[in-house]
Amino acid sequence: KQKQFSAELSLPSITTDGQRIHLYLNAGLLSGISSEIAEGADGIGLYRTEIPFMLHQRFPSESEQISVYRKVLNAAGDRPVVMRTLDVGGDKPLPYFPIKEDNPFLGWRGIRLSLDHPELFLVQLRAMLQAGGQGHQLQILLPMVSTLDEIDQTLVYLEQAFTELNQELKFELVRPKIGVMLEVPVLLYQLQEVAKRVDFVSVGSNDLTQYLLAVDRNNPSVSSLFDSYHPGILRALKLAVDECEQYDLDISVCGELAGEPYGALVLVAMGYRKLSMNQASLARINYILRRVSQQDLSELLTLLLMQSNGQQVRTLLGSFVENNG
Ligand code: PEP
Ligand code: MG
Repeated sequence: KQKQFSAELSLPSITTDGQRIHLYLNAGLLSGISSEIAEGADGIGLYRTEIPFMLHQRFPSESEQISVYRKVLNAAGDRPVVMRTLDVGGDKPLPYFPIKEDNPFLGWRGIRLSLDHPELFLVQLRAMLQAGGQGHQLQILLPMVSTLDEIDQTLVYLEQAFTELNQELKFELVRPKIGVMLEVPVLLYQLQEVAKRVDFVSVGSNDLTQYLLAVDRNNPSVSSLFDSYHPGILRALKLAVDECEQYDLDISVCGELAGEPYGALVLVAMGYRKLSMNQASLARINYILRRVSQQDLSELLTLLLMQSNGQQVRTLLGSFVENNG
């Protein structure tokens, strides 16, 4: 089947009734970003900068970061690249920056850590801006945001980096679009305010599921409870896309859900138009979306949202897939 999927990878994802869906690549390792791989994708929807940080023995310098980020941007050519600022903490430790906490997933991670270390944060922002330079479509994404203040503080740092660089460099830098991860549930209820501050949100369904259900995403004892198809999670995802539409805020999904066949169908049914996933999922999701209609999916969604548990949701999705070949 994989061969069949790949044969259509260069064709755009359009449903049978003409709805275009943009598919992007999730990446973190440079080896996974050859231009050949980026070929079937509309861009890079999530570049996890913690990966190169984890591979180093110490914090990479500004010039080391510029060189890594530039390779990513070059691989994408003129397509957009969403670069996420450092998201360590939680399950992602840095060997040279030990953090000891009882509840790492509720602790010092992502933007919290960056804002507490402006000297590190500014280096990363400066490196991204310089790598973005001119002629690339750099977008900067902030992980683990739970307050508007975190966004405001970041925008001040970003402005500082931007102004300094424009004085130091011989050319005008392009202003990147700025986005926040929608992965801490409380942000679902502040999207109107978020929309006044940034250009887009990207749903981190892995963490959003973990935090909405209070289930550790990596704990095998509770893995059966970690379920992104829980009808309550589906309602949260629907709320997010509806609010974003109302407030004219661009939205995409970069959690694992977007790369799962059922997940992609549910998201498109809800009105999501941008999905970012691992390279291994791209061809398959494209193949599936080219064989369903938005109309049928919208009708299916009404039923899905009425189910009482994730198992029932998946069963309905299973019959839908069977009926659509
Ligand atoms: C997510 O939380 O869904 C996400 C994409 O970020 P990460 O998996 O890197 O935490
Ligand atoms: Mg996350």
